[in-house]
Amino acid sequence: MADPPLIAILEDEAAIRRIMAETLENAGFRTLSFARATEFEAALRQITPDACLVDLGLPDRDGLALVHRLATESGAAIIIVSGRAQVQDRVTGLELGADDYIIKPFEPAELIARIRARLRRPAASTRGDQRARARFAGWMADFDSYVLTAPDGTETPMSHAEAEVLRMFLDHPRRLISRAQMLEILGGAGGESFDRAMDVRISRLRSKLGEDPKNPQLIKTIYGAGYIFLPDISWV
Ligand code: CA
Repeated sequence: MADPPLIAILEDEAAIRRIMAETLENAGFRTLSFARATEFEAALRQITPDACLVDLGLPDRDGLALVHRLATESGAAIIIVSGRAQVQDRVTGLELGADDYIIKPFEPAELIARIRARLRRPAASTRGDQRARARFAGWMADFDSYVLTAPDGTETPMSHAEAEVLRMFLDHPRRLISRAQMLEILGGAGGESFDRAMDVRISRLRSKLGEDPKNPQLIKTIYGAGYIFLPDISWV
């Protein structure tokens, strides 16, 4: 059996940090806790957690800048856990690449549910692990390593959220996918924040795929209806 998922916790308040670690360990996860962003970043050079829980109000670093770095450099799911409840903070967090945003105080059960939802790897959804790599339009997407390889061989890491969205497209090629279907496939609370998060993820994915936002060739927007993934796909 595989090791239980490893969750890194970055939280400067000792009491909250302890509650989070206990809650997660009782739910069967492994945890590593950090009070300072510098320690957390140093550790992340050595280990790759499955998910990172990141507080925004930190004594030594701007949490949002940290989230942005993690989203571009790490394949881990990134979940902001913050007392900042403003819509703008949430939107900014998602735009910077976070996979989810949990507002303090949180219910332990909610924390666990949100982490589990983010850890459902795209490869585990409908296909076996042998179908972890797909080729399309000269690109290669690897859902084990979360790496996207361009036709010229350049490799770009995908965040968990980007991989999830790409996997959804690859599982439903050349078919209109509506927002309602996305919600069904990817799960989530729905509503405006889901729509906004999807827009952000699709635009990040398009930019990684080198798409011209005004004239995308791979992921087509059908206004008022949804999206279509156009290329032919082969699984390898
Ligand atoms: Ca704090």
